[in-house]
Amino acid sequence: MSAPVGPVRAVLEEYAFPLEREFLARPFAALVPRLAAVRAEVKRRGLWAPHLPAALGGMGLALPAFGEVSAVLGESPIGHYLFGCNAPDIGNQELLLAHGSDAQRAQWLAPLARGEIRSCFAMTEPEYAGSNPVWMDTRAVPDGSDYVITGHKWFTSSADGAAFTIVMAVTDPAAPPHQRASQIIVPMGAPGITFVRNIPVMGEGGSDYASHAELRFDAVRVPQANRIGPEGAGFALAQERLGPGRIHHCMRWLGIAERAFRLMVQRAVTRELAPGEPLGRQQVVQHWIAESRAEMDAARLLVLDVAHRIEREGAHAARDGISLIKFHVAGVLQRVLDRAIQVHGALGMTDDTPLAYWYRHERGARIYDGPDEVHKSAVGRRILEGAGMTRSPGGRR
Ligand SMILES: Cc1cc2nc3c(=O)[nH]c(=O)nc-3n(C[C@H](O)[C@H](O)[C@H](O)COP(=O)(O)OP(=O)(O)OC[C@H]3O[C@@H](n4cnc5c(N)ncnc54)[C@H](O)[C@@H]3O)c2cc1C
Repeated sequence: MSAPVGPVRAVLEEYAFPLEREFLARPFAALVPRLAAVRAEVKRRGLWAPHLPAALGGMGLALPAFGEVSAVLGESPIGHYLFGCNAPDIGNQELLLAHGSDAQRAQWLAPLARGEIRSCFAMTEPEYAGSNPVWMDTRAVPDGSDYVITGHKWFTSSADGAAFTIVMAVTDPAAPPHQRASQIIVPMGAPGITFVRNIPVMGEGGSDYASHAELRFDAVRVPQANRIGPEGAGFALAQERLGPGRIHHCMRWLGIAERAFRLMVQRAVTRELAPGEPLGRQQVVQHWIAESRAEMDAARLLVLDVAHRIEREGAHAARDGISLIKFHVAGVLQRVLDRAIQVHGALGMTDDTPLAYWYRHERGARIYDGPDEVHKSAVGRRILEGAGMTRSPGGRR
């Protein structure tokens, strides 16, 4: 099926853009009932969950077509949420779809796909470098038919109000590093979970879906049947999740950049420096606009090329491309947002446009799902090894 870009854009224009002022001014939790009404309308129009198969109530789009839709949805900070394809639920859905047991899919995936519950993914720990995905402290100790989980996680996005989290925990500390951890479904109401706080990000604590939490797990008991896939497969599953996940992020970022670009162009045309003298007559503004257009168009082709490669050959074969788009598009996004804010002057610093919100919250694009430096080193190292450089004996990965 081709990407239903027109119908998706129509919903954004009718419902999402008009709600943005309120989204930027009020806690997310206060908006949930109104967003639920728009989600019902999205379902009524047959546009719900574009990435999921029809059997789960979705549109069944292939990755490149979903990427096109994702770029449109990215133009509003609530776009993906309204269409039931928001992170981190989308990653958890794809994981459960590919590797969940029948019971896990019935209990967790089905209501998640319908948007009746939310979920989160708890891997990163404050005391350990998240850039090294095989190094963590959280333990899941087998006890009879259960696991007893103890650990400390943070930046668990959207944990506030989530029905369950997928926890990455060490199940066999004696195994080789890449086989030590497993991914385990933990209901957020389980005894022993402490919701420490929503972490303020650039001054905003956030709430509900729009938040990042710190969590403690103190002897949290869950059945071993809650483990996803075989014991020790946690790292491999995380890698698998991140392939398409990075396409999702990159296309969403390009949507944000596209909206920022539109705002920048409008402002350059309408803002006068003197009567009859629009800002856009300044050569530097013309250059920012041209540079942004070129960077965004090139980035889009690169991302779609990688999405097609993942479809054809799988995420492993496309891993260099996945790393390239992850750091490249994050950089394009940051530059376009920065230029758009500069063109808006003081207005760019306010929440009267979505620019400042994105500038605050998408700075993380260069950090989450692997910081820039990790991706650059991975690609650079593979290119050099392909040219004959020997592997470092002390190399971590
Ligand atoms: C907005 C946001 C949302 C997030 N959501 C989630 C979530 O839902 N679930 C979850 O589990 N985690 C989440 N995270 C955490 C994220 O995955 C980690 O921040 C990321 O893996 C980096 O780990 P760290 O923060 O511990 O940084 P560190 O590992 O301490 O790295 C710090 C810095 O060191 C540098 N660095 C690291 N490795 C190398 C290297 N090999 N070479 C050169 N330089 C290097 C990089 O500049 C890096 O930014 C989120 C983070 C953010 C910002």
